[in-house]
Amino acid sequence: MYSLLIKQAKVIEGTGNPGKIMDVAVEGDKIVNVDKNITVKAQTVIDAAGKILTPGFIDIQNHSDSYWQIFDNPGFESLITQGFTSILIGNCGGSLAPLLSSDALLSIQKWHNLEGANINWQSFSEYIQELSKKRFACNVGSLVGYSTLRRGIVGDRIRSLEKDELGAVKKILEESLEAGAFGLSSGLSYSHEIIIKELELFELAKVVARQGALFSVHLRNESSEIVEAVEETLDIAKNSNVNLKISHLKIRGENNWQKLPEALELISTAYHKGVNVHFDLYPYDTVWQVLYSYLPRWATEGGRTVMLKHLSDPVYRNKILLHLNNSDIHFPKLLIASTSNKLNFIGKTLGQIAKNLEVSSEAALLHLIQSGGSEVMVFDKNLDTEGVSQLLVHPLSLIATDGAGFNLNGKTRLVHPRCFGTVPKFINLAKNYGLSLEDAIKKITSGPAKKAGFKNRGEIKVGNFADLVIFDENNLKDRATYENPYVFSDGISHVFVNGKAVVSNSKISGELPGYVLKK
Ligand SMILES: [Zn+2]
Repeated sequence: MYSLLIKQAKVIEGTGNPGKIMDVAVEGDKIVNVDKNITVKAQTVIDAAGKILTPGFIDIQNHSDSYWQIFDNPGFESLITQGFTSILIGNCGGSLAPLLSSDALLSIQKWHNLEGANINWQSFSEYIQELSKKRFACNVGSLVGYSTLRRGIVGDRIRSLEKDELGAVKKILEESLEAGAFGLSSGLSYSHEIIIKELELFELAKVVARQGALFSVHLRNESSEIVEAVEETLDIAKNSNVNLKISHLKIRGENNWQKLPEALELISTAYHKGVNVHFDLYPYDTVWQVLYSYLPRWATEGGRTVMLKHLSDPVYRNKILLHLNNSDIHFPKLLIASTSNKLNFIGKTLGQIAKNLEVSSEAALLHLIQSGGSEVMVFDKNLDTEGVSQLLVHPLSLIATDGAGFNLNGKTRLVHPRCFGTVPKFINLAKNYGLSLEDAIKKITSGPAKKAGFKNRGEIKVGNFADLVIFDENNLKDRATYENPYVFSDGISHVFVNGKAVVSNSKISGELPGYVLKK
């Protein structure tokens, strides 16, 4: 007698091989039988004729830690309802461990206001222990964020590491990887990583490569200098032999879209010359952006405190305004998604706010940075849908949310609809762009599982963990929008994590069967 038997679904195993009508049996947390017709009885039998059965989806670029949802909302409803069963957190340079000092967590304040957070760990190993005491709807693994690691040493100061400091950082990274971290992430465009030199990154990439772990890089530039940023990162991977993933690949700003072929060519050429490189992206044309990142680089160097001091100096402020006036960004259309101080600006465009304040949109932007608290985020529609479609079907792409798991109660801020709708939107788009369903599924199952090093997941086969999704291909639909993001997707009827249903007949079960994953 099995615990679960799913009958007569079209089974897409996750490797890209064509789907076949099969039965899949589960005992406990594992897949124990895959066959044409299984006649052994089971406690739960699901007739899935006419539906698709795939491995659970893996979100290799997830921010549920930076938005604090792993503590506030371990049900991850927005993720499980689109079929995600495992997530990799600690991305873009920010993780919640190791904490070498109380300054280490400053790097995530741009995503979440940390006042009142209860933190009782320091090392990565203590963090994993702490997470293991909690329960989650899906499996959770983490990278080490380089900003977190580095700021534990340099604090809010912006400077290069001394030789002995670099030695210490390498040692702690090594210990963290041994304690179960899946790799290292870097957020090179953020104020505290912008000054990091290639050499420092190369030294760390070597540590990651030695351990066979992942190096996940948020590029230094995603607009006019995208080609140089891709080159820099590929160089590090080539010279260190590290397993590289470029995070949320995109090109911002219409004037820069033409650079896509060159950037993609560099990545493909490197791959064919033996560099283990892939990239992830989300299937949307609008970015979810930290507001201060629109300021010129020189205005953010020195960290938040220095930046705010600069903004209150009239001469400096005018210099910044001049820079903003000369940029090609259309500021009035930016939509305010969140602020950490209550300002009633959420859901308004910068243009509307400027009109109310009777100032220019650029001045309103500075006003918001000054008064909105540490976390001010906006939506900016600045990606090329044609470019996004090319990346979605590219052989080296993986699809990920770059978002977090939210429930329906968090309506004090707008979140990017990708947190709720990435998978259905991707599968529907992929079909339009001529990608087979099997190839599309591979990009959210075995592709990310192999890249991240999630063992025995991402493929339907005997002995693997029973992370499974049943959906109706013809009724799959994302419904979340920028104005109204808190809406679950349609079409996914069952989601199993380690053999237990977290979604059953399209209803959230409330079970929290996820494991904390260690490399
Ligand atoms: Zn990022």
